[in-house]
Amino acid sequence: MGTPFSKLLELAGGLKEGRTLKAVIPGGSSTPLLSADTAMNMTMDYDSIANAGSMLGAGSVIIMDDTTCMVKTLTRLAHFYYDESCGQCTPCREGTGWLYRVLQRILDGNGKNEDLDLLVSVGEKISGNTICALGDAAATPVESFIRHFRHEFEYYIKHGRSIVESEHHLIEEEAIV
Ligand code: SF4
Repeated sequence: MGTPFSKLLELAGGLKEGRTLKAVIPGGSSTPLLSADTAMNMTMDYDSIANAGSMLGAGSVIIMDDTTCMVKTLTRLAHFYYDESCGQCTPCREGTGWLYRVLQRILDGNGKNEDLDLLVSVGEKISGNTICALGDAAATPVESFIRHFRHEFEYYIKHGRSIVESEHHLIEEEAIV
């Protein structure tokens, strides 16, 4: 508690060689994602993380480097909450399914630009309307992923593939040439 995030990253072994920090989820997958710059300037305590726009939550820090596809990552998180929903209340039971299926549609190359606003809207309708905290937990990452990395989602919708994988493929091709 109170350790600078940059120090925590260093103590954990740092990033792999040649990689740059892309984003951080400071308190487990149910807390908002932060940009790299924001994370590198905060300390691991309630107030600092709240001021940065997220929560300490469960304290399980998730660190993503520049090879991480945010579309695939959010889809993976959405599938987890969809799978975990017990189905007792409608916004969570139906909403987590909507979130997962719309994201999977984007991954399958059938996404539409309107899907991004639809995802945010579904998340807003789940938040605060469920019996337990899992509903809020499922909705929270959606808004922050799309707000910080909307261009990645738009690229995936337009091209049917990940901008991250496209960029790394080009770098590998250039290295071969
Ligand atoms: S919010 Fe909780 S109680 Fe409601 S369906 Fe989801 S997991 Fe079940």
